[in-house]
Amino acid sequence: MRRSAAPSAVAKRLSFQSPEIGSSVKTSSGRSCKRKRHNLQDADQDDELGMVQEPLKDMGNVTFMSLLPDSPSMSSHVRDWVGVVSDMCRFYIQGWLEMWPELLIRRLLNKPFKIPIPNYQPSSYGRCLGIRRQGARQPLHDPFEPNALVLYDPPEISEHDKLKLDSAKFPVHVVVDPILCQVLRPHQREGVKFMYDCVTGIRIPDSYGCIMADEMGLGKTLQCITLMWTLLKQGPDCNPLIEKAIVVAPSSLVKNWYNEISKWLGGRVTPLAIDGGSKSDIDRNLTGFMNTYGRRPVNPILIISYETFRLHAKVLHQSEVGLVLCDEGHRLKNSENQTYQALMNLKARRRVLLSGTPIQNDLLEYFSLVHFVNEGILGTANEFRRKFENPILRGRDADAVAEDIKKGTEKLQELAAIVNRCIIRRTQALLTKYLPVKYEQVICCRLTPLQEDIYQSFVNSDTIRRGLKSTEGVKMTSSSLAAITSLKKLVNHPDLIFEHCRNGKEGFENAFKFYPQAYNPVKQRLQPGLSGKLSILDGLLAFVKASTTDKVVLVSNYTQTLDLFERLCGLRSYRYVRLDGSMTIKKRAKVVDQFNDPTSPEFIFMLSSKAGGCGLNLIGANRLVMFDPDWNPANDEQAMARVWRDGQKKECFIYRLLAVGTIEEKIFQRQAHKKALSSCVVDREEDVERHFSVADLRDLFKLEKNTPSDTHDKFRCKRCVNGIQVKGPPEDSDCNSDLSLWHHCTSKKGLVDLALKQCWEAGITFAFHHKSHDQIKVV
Ligand SMILES: [Zn+2]
Repeated sequence: MRRSAAPSAVAKRLSFQSPEIGSSVKTSSGRSCKRKRHNLQDADQDDELGMVQEPLKDMGNVTFMSLLPDSPSMSSHVRDWVGVVSDMCRFYIQGWLEMWPELLIRRLLNKPFKIPIPNYQPSSYGRCLGIRRQGARQPLHDPFEPNALVLYDPPEISEHDKLKLDSAKFPVHVVVDPILCQVLRPHQREGVKFMYDCVTGIRIPDSYGCIMADEMGLGKTLQCITLMWTLLKQGPDCNPLIEKAIVVAPSSLVKNWYNEISKWLGGRVTPLAIDGGSKSDIDRNLTGFMNTYGRRPVNPILIISYETFRLHAKVLHQSEVGLVLCDEGHRLKNSENQTYQALMNLKARRRVLLSGTPIQNDLLEYFSLVHFVNEGILGTANEFRRKFENPILRGRDADAVAEDIKKGTEKLQELAAIVNRCIIRRTQALLTKYLPVKYEQVICCRLTPLQEDIYQSFVNSDTIRRGLKSTEGVKMTSSSLAAITSLKKLVNHPDLIFEHCRNGKEGFENAFKFYPQAYNPVKQRLQPGLSGKLSILDGLLAFVKASTTDKVVLVSNYTQTLDLFERLCGLRSYRYVRLDGSMTIKKRAKVVDQFNDPTSPEFIFMLSSKAGGCGLNLIGANRLVMFDPDWNPANDEQAMARVWRDGQKKECFIYRLLAVGTIEEKIFQRQAHKKALSSCVVDREEDVERHFSVADLRDLFKLEKNTPSDTHDKFRCKRCVNGIQVKGPPEDSDCNSDLSLWHHCTSKKGLVDLALKQCWEAGITFAFHHKSHDQIKVV
């Protein structure tokens, strides 16, 4: 007790007999005890100890003084001493009593910190919840996490060197934020690393720019956001490499960039998006942005349209910017224009140009883009002309002599070698390797006798013959267009033209007699066996339903055919969904979600190839039947992409049904031809007219009989002997290759797809098939 009451102070007071004794005494709680000194003096004068006992009543009136004998012989010195000591103890005890609830509460509240997330596994490295980081120089994120993307690896320093070097200067890893790591695909990780190496001058010394020219759909924006976020937060020397970044984009994409940043960074940063507004407002915002410095700026990212940038370039030129990203960067192909100049004068060393369009052959445009990101890498415009453009163009000239050609080629290679170090371009083909294998099969189906009879009678009818004669030298008429549609419907199912036949419409005058007696499709149950294609579809669906958990998308050009599908589903009790053109977008989304749920009972999704709508994602199905070919190959491609796309986990099977020898096979041939040319793609039915001569039309209406495949006949295939493929397709071919480079077979033996094998006998005459890619074996 005495010890805790500052004995040195007590000793001092005793030796000097200072009247100020009490004033310097402090209780353990630090409170001054002046008031208590007054009590002491009272005790001295009146010797009434009871008074000083007052505050100690709680202790049962037991005090130090009360224990002393009340002896008149006790000297005043001793009394003084006893008084002081008693006072000290009293103060101490009293103070402690006043304190204890506080201490107790504090102790209760000072429970050790617990991590509020149940089952949280702290990382053994770097930053983690509830644990203070050890030491100052550490990477922001753990470079040894399983999925970590390390953009910068510090060089190894030996223990010996560590002693010699200043530990405050050791470089640290630069590691992409795990929230982005987990969404980046392998090619995107590669792209981010490439750009990081460019903008930090690792790839080309003293050059800090690059061109990101990935095709659409490969995630250029995400890669750029990752780069930007990393640079804004980290650097090898423990400080962010940049303080702020500018994204320049076409006006229509400003909002998109804002949304993408929020989407991927989830509110970790609030970009400043500027597109339009009053000049003074914009200037004020931009000035604020340019004056932003420090480690945690409010808006470290500015998103601005090209137009606004050009108009307010003056403000933006005022100070340095860490990084500038130019979306749709091919706008900068002309180094003379004002926007180019405005951007060029930006005090930004790190420049990334995004472009999804392949860079044109125009060398000067090429120069402008490369010059923008890495000024001087190709010299000045004049130097470039002299050194590269002129010799390359001379080499390409029709009159070029061998020496010129050689020099031109050399210069082109030299140029490519320089610029390839700062350009990255990947195509969409890259995506396929992450998807499951897709088997595409083109299936030639025999017509039923009924279909063949009606077909022949129609194309031999006077109406058609006259039509083809009268259009001599003239383009296709609307009547021939209607005739095409009738034939296409006939090969889908004779029911679809039943009314025409019964009413003896043009061309169908002699067709009604071919139908079975008393046939009435409206009143009777559907007879799939009357159509070659529908028989095969019926068999295929039954096999898939019985032996797999797969779902199927059925696509046709005609709503009437979709009605037919509905009747088939009714007949076989299949649950189905039909996307209706009149459906609201909300309803559509609901229907699609429900179908994609693997546990939902819907087995079939019916889709019109015309009213399919954009971006429809039907990955719940992994089989897709295109019941009739479209004039436009793009429509068919689009339909196939609904199942074979991101998120699909199962192998996909695409079936394209063609009625053999009929107009369908001919449409398909034209389609394949068009695809090969990929130049004149027809978008509308009317356009078809312009693409047909009368000779074409005659060919179109001619039924090729006694052939398993008219298409194969036209190839004059050299890989087949006696109708059997003896030589496989080239190693590097896939289902994007020309059809003549696909596998093909006239019997089910050569097929890969079990389901198709099962229904070969239903009327398949020939099949072309190929796969998208070789499956990467996952161990
Ligand atoms: Zn062949």
